[in-house]
Amino acid sequence: MKIIDIKEESIKLNLSLSNSMFSFKEMTTSIVKVDIDDGKSIQTGFAFNSTGRYACGAQMRNRFIPRLLSASESDLVDDAGDIDTKKALDVMLVGEKPGGDMERSVPIGTIETALWDAISKSKKLPLYKYLSQKFPEYNSTNRMFCYVGGGYYDVGKTINDLKDEIKKNFENGYRLMKIKIGGAPIKEDIRRVEAAIEAAGSADNIALDANGGLKKDNILTYAKELKDFGLSWFEEPTHPSNFSSYKEFISNYEGSVAGGENLYSTQDYLNLIKYGGFRENKDLLQVDIPQSYGISYFNEALIELKKNNWNVNKIMPHGGNQMSLHVACGFGLSMCEAYPNVFGVFSGYDDEYQLDDGYIDLSDRPGIGFEGQNELYRLFKDIK
Ligand code: MG
Repeated sequence: MKIIDIKEESIKLNLSLSNSMFSFKEMTTSIVKVDIDDGKSIQTGFAFNSTGRYACGAQMRNRFIPRLLSASESDLVDDAGDIDTKKALDVMLVGEKPGGDMERSVPIGTIETALWDAISKSKKLPLYKYLSQKFPEYNSTNRMFCYVGGGYYDVGKTINDLKDEIKKNFENGYRLMKIKIGGAPIKEDIRRVEAAIEAAGSADNIALDANGGLKKDNILTYAKELKDFGLSWFEEPTHPSNFSSYKEFISNYEGSVAGGENLYSTQDYLNLIKYGGFRENKDLLQVDIPQSYGISYFNEALIELKKNNWNVNKIMPHGGNQMSLHVACGFGLSMCEAYPNVFGVFSGYDDEYQLDDGYIDLSDRPGIGFEGQNELYRLFKDIK
């Protein structure tokens, strides 16, 4: 098996929505296509760099694609002759200095994820099943609880619009929804939370996401005002790497807290759980896999986290897409995010998937299954 070509294209998302920190108006993402020759046929794998970090084609073209295409076959394959994604990761990391991970973890992770798509297609297996063969130590499943990441601030969007958004998602079969917090004055934000709970029927059907946007002068007020609501979790109350602030927030908020989607290395995750005051059975670690070196690296991170008593059932992938859904199922993670109608063609899952009381069953379509998302697949097919 060998890699014969890798291509990237930058796509603009064209969105008006925003969270507490920034608008998605300028946001782009990299879509990637890799061709591998498995000895019998050419298999094509696809991936995109999730949403929320900009396209990164320059790093791919300048460093990571040439390293992979010029590597010898023996540097990239396992004993069975299949492409070993861990070896591909090592090849991409040649000449890279420790630290400063995000500059390279996003392009590397996106290419690595596309390789998994191509290899599992060669094996005629859906990615989650191929993952269960490669990593049999996890409890893989084809059925995953999916929650909605939504409730964004948007131009002209009212509290009633937020309630309608929540009701619509629950009517469509979702049972848990996360809304943005910290982007309005605190009194208005609390009214949004109260309205969201009313629309969802119960506080534990609602989670909050501040996207690291609470400030020194309001973060503890948010913690104290919202601690007794009984919400499912409070995500990224503070800057992703401000571990002492996480710790202070947790001791004031007491309920479940989540974070990690803007961290990019195993060392970052270990720092968050150790110095951020994360509690093993209460708080949630969120990893954006294509943005943090990809799937084989995620497995290595899980091994290190396990040594620190952190369990996969307190880990969920960031990003609502087919890539995160397969990883959640393949590694038996706690749940998966979904973005119904939020990020245009990059939203959501296979066009045929139906919610069943909050759960989605994966089909047996080989690979990640982007071929089942018509509009997104059209973009992938046209990568030149
Ligand atoms: Mg988030």
